[in-house]
Amino acid sequence: MKIVVLKFGGTSVGTIKKIKKVAGIIADYRKKNFKVIVVSSAMSGVTNELVKKSREISENFSDTEYDVLVSSGEQVACSLIAGSLIHKGLKSRSWLAWQIPILTKGLHKNSRINKINKNKILNYLKDGGIPIITGFQGIDDEERITTTGRGGSDASAIMLAKFFKAQKCIIYTDVEGVYTTDPNKLKKAKKIKVISYEEMLEMASLGAKVMQPVSIQDARLNRINIEVKSSFVKKSGTLITKRSNIINNKIITGISSTNNDAKVSLIGVKDKPGVAASIFKPLSKKSINVDMVVQNISANGKETDLTFTIKSEDLNKTKKIILENKNIKFRNLLLKDGVSKISIIGVGMITTPGVTFRMFQTLANEKINIQVISTSEIKISVLIDKNYTKKALKALHKEFKLDN
Ligand code: ADP
Ligand code: ASP
Ligand code: MG
Repeated sequence: MKIVVLKFGGTSVGTIKKIKKVAGIIADYRKKNFKVIVVSSAMSGVTNELVKKSREISENFSDTEYDVLVSSGEQVACSLIAGSLIHKGLKSRSWLAWQIPILTKGLHKNSRINKINKNKILNYLKDGGIPIITGFQGIDDEERITTTGRGGSDASAIMLAKFFKAQKCIIYTDVEGVYTTDPNKLKKAKKIKVISYEEMLEMASLGAKVMQPVSIQDARLNRINIEVKSSFVKKSGTLITKRSNIINNKIITGISSTNNDAKVSLIGVKDKPGVAASIFKPLSKKSINVDMVVQNISANGKETDLTFTIKSEDLNKTKKIILENKNIKFRNLLLKDGVSKISIIGVGMITTPGVTFRMFQTLANEKINIQVISTSEIKISVLIDKNYTKKALKALHKEFKLDN
């Protein structure tokens, strides 16, 4: 069977007009004799509204009910797409994740798909049907509804492609593909033709919302090629694939940035074993994601300073947890909202010396102060004042020859 998985994101199904357009794209694949499996996200803005409603009830809204609530947007979108195809005279129906079922493991709000039962969908495909499957949703061992994290429809698509051994997995979105940086932040951003899983994973984890990071991990583990393209214009997009398929002579492939980060510094913390663990344990218990961490060298061997970043929305909670933590002592607590992490990513930096220097010099020329630095084999991240994000993106994009 020649199977294609087509995933449509929120903006692609954001209005009735767009849903009709999506139905046209699906029908075209049918005409090319593909068996089509469709995955849809909720109409744009719907999931955010649902999250907001849960917060209006409680800041500690039940995780299990959160999943039931926020996954409901996908049901609406899928029935509208299926209805639109039926209206065109095609055989189609919506499938909620539990009806298949798509099984997940792990915590609520952030589950991972580990199994998909194929029978019902295969029979439906054989009968000439076009299944429209809710992304983002799953069901766990206890038959509770789960979700796969924000942006999780991407992972649903990849896992469907894996289990059904699809020939193609296409992610339709509101931009033409993966760009050198967010095209909505920098006009000069260029579409990337081919990118490796490793680079895409870093770009996504460091702020490029175009693909959910977990979905890239799943694709890499299962060697699934992904095409990212626009549902609005008919143009070739970006191929995400393994590194050996790529010939690339650029040092840097892309630049990512984050909004809404905050910096926390504990000044004068006792420099002894176990202190860092005492600081981070209660934060992780409350699901606060700690990102960049730096600890200064202790000048007198007794005290040190520790700095880390979190999401701005977690700043108040973090402050409270630290102040109430009886296991740590420090002289001062500094909190700074409104910082942004800028990262340059590229496998080319492994073999090219001087990339770090070039990044720092470029920012220095723009008089942008670097607050925290972190590096890995294929990325360098710096924390800067949020107000300089655009300036930094622009300068680095030019420095690493991504403008042309
Ligand atoms: P969907 O609703 O289709 O899942 P998302 O909003 O999740 O779409 O992702 C698409 C958005 O990702 C784009 O509108 C763009 O602003 C943003 N984005 C961030 N970084 C990049 C990048 N490097 N390339 C393309 N898009 C990016
Ligand atoms: N609708 C969900 C979200 O907004 C899943 C997705 O978009 O992939 O996070
Ligand atoms: Mg998305």
